[in-house]
Amino acid sequence: MEKPILATDVDGVLLNWKGGVAAFNASRGVATPREYLCPRNDVPLRQLFDTECRDQAYDLMIEFNRSPMLGQLPLLDPSAVDVLQRLSQHFDIVAITSVGEWAETHERRRQNLKDLFGDVFREVVCLPLRVSKKEHLARFTEQGRVVAWFDDLAEHVETGKELGIPSYQFQFCPNGAPSKPGLFRSWRDIESHLEQTMLVA
Ligand SMILES: [Mg+2]
Repeated sequence: MEKPILATDVDGVLLNWKGGVAAFNASRGVATPREYLCPRNDVPLRQLFDTECRDQAYDLMIEFNRSPMLGQLPLLDPSAVDVLQRLSQHFDIVAITSVGEWAETHERRRQNLKDLFGDVFREVVCLPLRVSKKEHLARFTEQGRVVAWFDDLAEHVETGKELGIPSYQFQFCPNGAPSKPGLFRSWRDIESHLEQTMLVA
């Protein structure tokens, strides 16, 4: 039987991209202030990569996303591994990630996810940086019922809402309560929500 589809972003939802940037910065002798790494802090790229120049910050981001370090990102929410494993019994889980257009980056992203989560993903869609996820969210809605979409960026959450998908923002904070409706702080919160809404029997 076809399972309903649960769709999720990767950076800032499953993987700790900013944590990887901190390691990348350290490799070039730059310390990353601890507060920059908090998921609640929306830190401009210039600050994150410690440069005054916007173009240089963008170039450093591309250098990082094209490097082997991109394939070794740590988990963001450690509870996500067990939760996704359980949810995969009820849902087809798909990931949609704007990680860049390079084939080796796509391989590293998929391997990183496989190393941490095993085979829980039905599909991992890798897109160029900063593109809309609309086309792919729409494709999944044509394939089946998409019961939830999670992203850390409000603009991608809005895209899901425009398509009529129940769409939620994710901002990891293990001990924090959601500050607004439609915001989740952890994958345990997501699992509870799905149980309460009877999506998980
Ligand atoms: Mg993200």
